[in-house]
Amino acid sequence: MRIEEYKDMIYACGRCEFCRGFDYNDRCPEVFTQYWESSTARGRMAIARAILEGKLEYSEDLAERVFGCFMCGRCREECKKAAQIDVIEVTKAMRQDFIDQGIKIPEAGAHMADTVTSSGNIFADPTKVHNKWSEGLEFKKGSGTLFFPGCLASHRFKEKTNILVQLLQAAGYELDFLGEDQTCCGTPYWITGKMEHSKKYAEAYLKKLQDRGVKEIITPCPSCFRAFDEEYPKLLGIEKLPIKVRHTSEVLEEIVKEEKLKLKQSVKKKITYHDPCEIGRYRDIYEPPRKVIESIPGVEFIEMSRNREHAFCCGGGGGCKIMFPDHSQKVSDERIRDFVKTDAELMATICPACEMNLTHGMYEADLEVRVLDLAELLAVSAGIISPEILEPDYFPED
Ligand code: SF4
Ligand code: SF4
Repeated sequence: MRIEEYKDMIYACGRCEFCRGFDYNDRCPEVFTQYWESSTARGRMAIARAILEGKLEYSEDLAERVFGCFMCGRCREECKKAAQIDVIEVTKAMRQDFIDQGIKIPEAGAHMADTVTSSGNIFADPTKVHNKWSEGLEFKKGSGTLFFPGCLASHRFKEKTNILVQLLQAAGYELDFLGEDQTCCGTPYWITGKMEHSKKYAEAYLKKLQDRGVKEIITPCPSCFRAFDEEYPKLLGIEKLPIKVRHTSEVLEEIVKEEKLKLKQSVKKKITYHDPCEIGRYRDIYEPPRKVIESIPGVEFIEMSRNREHAFCCGGGGGCKIMFPDHSQKVSDERIRDFVKTDAELMATICPACEMNLTHGMYEADLEVRVLDLAELLAVSAGIISPEILEPDYFPED
């Protein structure tokens, strides 16, 4: 069993209450939606221990708990004060054990990984549809700097992704794009435990990128960013990918810091910022997005009460949006309640999954509020696009 590798961590759990929170509601989105002790990180450690000791077996009933984790990393952050258990790695190992033992996992999760294998993206889009966002843009093949939008930004946010590229190009970045050769980064494999194709997938992808002369990847998707920067080296048994990988949060900070664009338009709005789990808690990228917001003239920035390492998940992590849409919606509704308390007019973030969930949360709460990527705010301030996108009644042609 894969969890044997994490035996020391599993046995280190002292069953304190840091990971689940004292009122069950403000830290872990899984227990927020499922209410069971077995939905908490400490519950999962107890389950893993019982499995290791032969007192419990992996079963379909258990799958809802183990696959119900949003992989938001809040418990891992809290456990730094306790036993330093990497709950995410233990959860990933448990998910792989389900697959290795042939136990049924939530159908949508299994389907997502299979769709990547059969179609190259999580939506089973034909290439032409998947790349529609790039219409009207020109790329420089072989420039060495690859723009990698990933599945969600390509499929769900055609306008946002198009604006992001316009912004990067206006700031002087010469971008290449794989076009018909772009496929999913592979994240669905490791979040659903379906690892059988993943090593070959990473090897083939790296070869494709190297053959094209890619020296750097810029991506707006935190999952793609971590896939290339963290998962590929692990799968390939190398310390670092021979290609630099940057999330757009750092590139936008560079644009602001090096004054690559003149931010001449004032954005007179009260704005708050949602920290995406995978760049926040996973990578400590907290300040670059805030510096970008602060650089925009006219903005009044307001923090939500749960911010940085304490930020509540948007509801989109760990594959839960697809496997447990009701749970996902409940979590995004809760995050929208944090937003409402700020009195802000706009929600900004920098992750396509967060943008999708929070937008759904706004609809559910019957709020006419736009959820914008930081690149859209910068593009307005730089005069690249019209400020109409800031208005609550604006509806993108996605
Ligand atoms: S914070 Fe860590 S040690 Fe404490 S109960 Fe949770 S997993 Fe166990
Ligand atoms: S990663 Fe997030 S959802 Fe999963 S157990 Fe930890 S706090 Fe809960």
